[in-house]
Order: sequence, then structure tokens, then C-alpha cells
Amino acid sequence: MSVNPPIFLKDKEENNSKFVEIQQSQTTSIAAEDPLQNLCLASQEVLQKAQQSGRSKCLKCGGSRMFYCYTCYVPVENVPIEQMPLVKLPLKIDIIKHPNETDGKSTAVHAKLLAPEFVNIYTYPCIPEYEEKDHEVALVFPGPKSISIKDLSFHLQKRIQNNVRDKNDPEKPSVKRKKTQEQDLNDSKGQDTTLKKIIFIDSTWNQTNKIFTDERLQGLLQVELKTRKTCFWRHQKGKPDTFLSTIEAIYYFLVDYHTDILKEKYQGQYDNLLFFYSFMYQLIKNAKCSGDKEMRKLIH
Ligand SMILES: [Zn+2]
Repeated sequence: MSVNPPIFLKDKEENNSKFVEIQQSQTTSIAAEDPLQNLCLASQEVLQKAQQSGRSKCLKCGGSRMFYCYTCYVPVENVPIEQMPLVKLPLKIDIIKHPNETDGKSTAVHAKLLAPEFVNIYTYPCIPEYEEKDHEVALVFPGPKSISIKDLSFHLQKRIQNNVRDKNDPEKPSVKRKKTQEQDLNDSKGQDTTLKKIIFIDSTWNQTNKIFTDERLQGLLQVELKTRKTCFWRHQKGKPDTFLSTIEAIYYFLVDYHTDILKEKYQGQYDNLLFFYSFMYQLIKNAKCSGDKEMRKLIH
């Protein structure tokens, strides 16, 4: 596992200087080795207690789980939902997961648990139809056609204009064009809300490629995240440490969206998306230090 404090701290300093200033006096030495240290997180006491008492029941399916149920997307009995933070997001998120992906290993569930109103998880090949929404939806995927987050609005606006111009295109019914024109007018008021939904693919690299080549996703604008290194304990073999876990990718996308698109100062608004992640990361790190194989098994 490799972490990357310099990049992380640099971002934090730029976006959130006040918070870093307050924290720095107490945590400089720890922060240097742990990039998740400076997050604005809700109290994780509930997770500490749950971890000490071990697995408990999922109130929906009755399964025995640690912290949350990865099939029902709800916290377990001994993690009361009111003690969990609720995160508000500036846009909707769709996560498409591969059916072969082991549910218990996916960090996509964290997003659904912490921002349930904004996040939907779909199991491939059952995914929504995005064709009519291609001017307000984008897919996070690195590749030769990918653009950066700061260029997102420009490219989506271009699509809106092209759609209006091509309204007589026989392949595309004019009803759709009319809709986009109205949308365009609505979007010109107030802040930039061109992007309504962002899609993430949650799977191993080989499976991701298969989902990505699905024709329902091929017409979408592809956006690439800035290079950041992962803290993920379940690092994929043969993949560079810049291959982020799904919850890290969602978190970093939102931080950049906030500063580059909404043009607002980032003050930890989405940090609680890492509520489970940072806690589990810490558990794994401690277990590795103490050689606690049982704990590693529990989380892995
Ligand atoms: Zn369940």
C-alpha cells in the first residue's frame, strides 16, 4: 500500500487552508504518514463500538454483517442510522457494478449508505438509458477521449448547442431536441448546473472495460480524475497505486467539482463520504502493525 501525503496535503492547503491550519499543530506528524487524517468527519464512536462487539444483524435480510449490509445498503443493528452522517451532494451519482464483483469488497456501498438520496447502484447489464441525457450526464473513465473536470461544462454546453443545431437529424427525433433547448435556458440561470449526473463503474479493471464498451455508455462524455494515489488496503495486483477505490474516486471527483465547476471553496463538505472508509483503513493499518490476522480477515 502506498499513500501520497504531499499531493493530498497540497490540495487540502489550497482548498481548505483554515482547517489545515487548525489541525496542523496537533497532527502534523501523523498527517505526514496518513492522508485521511485531516478529514472533517462525524464521530466514529459508533463504529468503534460496533467493531468491538463484532458482527450484528442486518435489519432487512437478517444477514450477519460488520457495520453495514452490502446487499441491502443499510447499516446493521448495532450501527443506528441516526448516528451516521448524512452527506448532501451537488449532483446525482449512478454507480454501475459488475455482477461478478464481490459485494462485500466494494466501497461503492459507502456512497449509497452516506448519501442515499443522491446515489443509485445498478448491477450490469441492468442500467438506465442515458441516450437522451447525454448533454447533462458524464462517465468517469480514464482514456484517450477523456476530458478534465474543469472542461466538463464547456463540453456539455457544446453538446447542447450541437443537439439544437442538429434538430432535423433524421436519426434523432426532434422531441428530444426541444427538450434540450428548454434545458439550456433553465441552465443559464444561476450557478452552473449543466452536469446533473455522474456515472462511476465499480469493478476490477478487466470488467470495467467490458462495461465501458457497452453501447449505452459509449455516447457519453468521459471525464478523467486528476492523478491521486490510493489508500486502498485491497490494492489490485498489477495495477498502479493511482488506481482509486470507488469511494475515493467519488470523493475526489466531488472535491474537484466543487472547486472547478461550482467555483466554491472546499471546506470538507463531502469528507463524510469517507466515514466508513477512513475507519476501515485505520483498522487495517493497525491490524497490519500488530499482525492481527483475524481483524484483517474481517475487513478484507
Ligand atoms: Zn441485508
